[in-house]
This record gives sequence, C-alpha cells and structure tokens, in this order.
Amino acid sequence: MNIKLLSITPNIETVIEEAGRTCYQSYNKISEGSAERFIKMIIKNGHESVLEHGYASFKISGISRSLSHQLVRHRIASFSQQSQRYCKEDQFDYVIPPSVRDKYVGDESSLLFQYQEMMRNIQDLYNRMVREGIKPEDARFVLPNACCTQLVLTCNLREWRHIFKERYNLAAQWEIRQMCKEILKVLKPLAPIVFADFKIGD
Ligand SMILES: Cc1cc2nc3c(=O)[nH]c(=O)nc-3n(C[C@H](O)[C@H](O)[C@H](O)COP(=O)(O)OP(=O)(O)OC[C@H]3O[C@@H](n4cnc5c(N)ncnc54)[C@H](O)[C@@H]3O)c2cc1C
Repeated sequence: MNIKLLSITPNIETVIEEAGRTCYQSYNKISEGSAERFIKMIIKNGHESVLEHGYASFKISGISRSLSHQLVRHRIASFSQQSQRYCKEDQFDYVIPPSVRDKYVGDESSLLFQYQEMMRNIQDLYNRMVREGIKPEDARFVLPNACCTQLVLTCNLREWRHIFKERYNLAAQWEIRQMCKEILKVLKPLAPIVFADFKIGD
C-alpha cells in the first residue's frame, strides 16, 4: 500500500477558524491558541460544517479492489480510480491478506500456495481472453477482489473525520483500517487540532 498526499488547503486550521468566526463575527478573539479553542468547540457542539472549508487529496495505490469498493461508498468524497475498461490488467498485482499469508507451511497444499496459484490461473485466463479478442471490459469479469487498484481521493476534513470514525476502528476491515492509519499519520501533523481526538494505534 502506498499513500501520497497530493494537496491540502494551505493554512488549513486558520482557514477553518476564520470561516467559523464569520458566523459569530468574533474575529477580535483571534489570538495565539484561539484556533485550538475554537475548533475544539465547534467539533464538541457538532457544528462540523465549518470543517468543510479544508480539503486534502491523496493518491492511494497498492490496495485491493475489495478495499476500494468500501471506500467509494463514501458519497461526500470525490474519486478518480484506475479503470479496468481502459487499462489492461495483463500483469495485475494482488493483495494477500495476512491471514492467508500466515497459512504458509512451505508446500503446495498450503492455502498461500493455492491462493497464488489461483491468481496465476486468473491471470492466464484473462490474458487468453484478451488475446482472443475479448475486450478488457468483459475480460475483467474474471478478476478477483484481491486485484490491486489505484485512485485519487479528495474530501473535506469533515468527511475525513467521518471516514476515520467508521473505518479506523476495530469493527472495520483490516486493509481499510491500515489505509486510514497511514492517512492519519500524514494528516494529523498538518491539522493537529481537527484530528486531535483520533489516536494512532494498531
Ligand atoms: C463496519 C462496517 C460494515 C459495513 N457493512 C456493510 C454491509 O454489509 N453492506 C453494505 O451495503 N454496506 C456496509 N457498510 C457501508 C455503510 O453502510 C456505508 O455505506 C458506508 O460506511 C458509508 O457511510 P455513510 O453513508 O455514513 O458515509 P458517506 O457517504 O461518506 O456520507 C457521510 C454522511 O453524509 C450524510 N449523507 C450522505 N449521503 C446522504 C444521503 N443521501 N441522505 C442523507 N444523508 C446523507 C450522512 O450523514 C453520512 O453519514 C459498512 C460500513 C462499515 C463501517
């Protein structure tokens, strides 16, 4: 999995404070430390629309289609994802879940071996279909959820908080949790007040 920050609103927490204080015309309260008090107050009071003034975009690659399918359910976010119609998957990478990797016992009967064998067979069938004139948009029907994809995800900080609440907790699936952790590691230092209540753990 590879996570790369593409862009973030400059002076993001200053922008959020300025936007929020417009509601109350309380610019005279802007001082050292006022952004922290103000942003904590709006989050506590559920006035989170103010957080929508800050955006962050990430390029995310080396994740499975199984992860991306969960991600694109987040309707407030914007996505541009590698197409399996316009791009051939003639050498697709795939994700191996740790639970499967752990099953390695060193011989051909192991789950890991069988898993990798299945991926090779899928690749062979896909390539044969394309060779024999099947369009990628139809050949892709045999591709697995494990198939790697890449996408650019842009959303505002209110939505990032929502994604982390839903996807960076133990009820969420391991791969999306791992992705959230990597994104939080980047976002927290850039917007420490907005993400203060998210702790980076396992
Ligand atoms: C642990 C877990 C298990 C899941 N299991 C399943 C499953 O088995 N099957 C399944 O189909 N999905 C499942 N989901 C996906 C889940 O149902 C949501 O589709 C997904 O998490 C996106 O959440 P959301 O709609 O709150 O977020 P977003 O789409 O990111 O929206 C953010 C917020 O905006 C508001 N909003 C957005 N669109 C609307 C709207 N049209 N009307 C009103 N308010 C809106 C809501 O307040 C929403 O919470 C699961 C999610 C999690 C975290």
